[in-house]
Amino acid sequence: MATKIATFTVTPIAPDVVAQLRHRDDAGREPLLLVDESGGSPLRCCLRASEPGETLLLASYAPLRRWAAERDIDLNAYDEMGPVFVHPQPCGGPAHDGYPDELRGTPRVLRAYNEKGRIIGGLVLDPDDDPEPAIEQLLADPDVVVVHARAVVFGCFTFAIERR
Ligand SMILES: [Zn+2]
Repeated sequence: MATKIATFTVTPIAPDVVAQLRHRDDAGREPLLLVDESGGSPLRCCLRASEPGETLLLASYAPLRRWAAERDIDLNAYDEMGPVFVHPQPCGGPAHDGYPDELRGTPRVLRAYNEKGRIIGGLVLDPDDDPEPAIEQLLADPDVVVVHARAVVFGCFTFAIERR
């Protein structure tokens, strides 16, 4: 898809974190096992859309919590948590670290965070928008250290983006 070298990497929820969420999610609950009858749900372990009838786990996930803990940052009110779908078993992860092919053409909100984990910018990615220039626009701000992609209507965390 992209013809030039990407300046960023897209990261799913890390496999070791997904493994934790399969037993106990970030809200301290056991995740919910369910059959996704209609499919099309974005899976945060491999960044593809679920197939109709696929069995998934629905778990609560705090997308900045581990990132902040590794950097000794106190997130305060920015320690948000929300629902994510993951595979119930290890799935091998995404096919590559560029923008996920199966999530291209779906509306997303991009939220830009600084080194303290505070939101300092963002934009809406419409289905017709090319994601790469939009992401590069946010990362052009040197104060932005990580960008999170979220669903527009449901608001759920989908994946993280960092400079390569
Ligand atoms: Zn998966």
